[in-house]
Amino acid sequence: MLDKIIKDIKDAKTLTHENITALLDSPDETLWAQVFERADDIRKKNFGDAVHLRGLLEFSNYCKRNCLYCGLRKDNKTQYRYRMPPDEIVENAVQIASFGIKTIVLQSGEDPYYTTDIICNILRDIKKNADTAITLSIGEKTRDEYKAFFDAGADRYLIRHETASPSLYASLHPDSTLKERLNCIDDLFSIGFQVGIGCMVGLPGQTHSDMAADILLLQEKQPDMIGMGPFICNQDTPLQGALSGTIEQTLKMTALARIVCPRSHLPATTATGSIDRFGREKALAVGANVVMPNFTPLNYRMHYTIYPNKRCITEDGYKCNTCIRKMIENEGRTVATGYGHSLRFESSTGQTS
Ligand code: SF4
Repeated sequence: MLDKIIKDIKDAKTLTHENITALLDSPDETLWAQVFERADDIRKKNFGDAVHLRGLLEFSNYCKRNCLYCGLRKDNKTQYRYRMPPDEIVENAVQIASFGIKTIVLQSGEDPYYTTDIICNILRDIKKNADTAITLSIGEKTRDEYKAFFDAGADRYLIRHETASPSLYASLHPDSTLKERLNCIDDLFSIGFQVGIGCMVGLPGQTHSDMAADILLLQEKQPDMIGMGPFICNQDTPLQGALSGTIEQTLKMTALARIVCPRSHLPATTATGSIDRFGREKALAVGANVVMPNFTPLNYRMHYTIYPNKRCITEDGYKCNTCIRKMIENEGRTVATGYGHSLRFESSTGQTS
């Protein structure tokens, strides 16, 4: 059966839940080497060797929600909280763009302080003053709010589905459901955003069947971007003491994501680089084509602790940018110079490069 699955992968056939589960059940390294090679080939065919940089700005660590795995959860009273004033967000975004970064990712917990008007003003001010695409990653909102962000200039929206298993999702998210999450994702697509979804790998209680459901959801939605990283246990959350996801699992899921979504932008995530010193390099070798240097000012960055021991917590944005560019070159890859829009929009806008 496994040989047949590898043949299906090579023939670019649609994968089934049963096939993906069987693959994930297999510890056969020779088989996985073939999967990794195929994922890398697909990356090369669709994106070449260029790696896109997305400059990350984590502007608030307040959150009204209580996701069990997250250090920013509302009930984590040990967490020091910060909010960047709108002017400072715009100032930082303009500076990030001056480093040649063509996408800025504005990320925060679900913080009601930033009303729709405040976010829209920030978006308009950045677009007025910097030549950059903007990705928002600020959680679940109404369709009208998403539409307002889109009209104000947001190009992309990142909202991981976290896990495609309804029961696992429910056990980790006391204040939301998978259905609500998926509705948000559908709203974002219908508005015209470039949409990013994705999951955590190695969650407590997550089975290979659950992980196969994640890959199937990616296959079905064909998102413009994918966020795939390991679960990393945070001792200041109800999941304290749980085992974290492993680099092996994460690389397997990254490769499978690339195989089922040949044309999605797929980052070598910071979380992957946080569980393994060469995690990002390894992810770049199995299908990833994006890296996200962190430009959050140092006085805030150490407090954005969804998980502990995060990579690049002490380098300023300039150093992080330089270090990541060097890492990409060391891997024999190049740094892309364009906006890195979705390939879906490439032919109509000509903006991707
Ligand atoms: S995962 Fe996101 S929504 Fe959930 S508590 Fe953390 S920051 Fe808030």
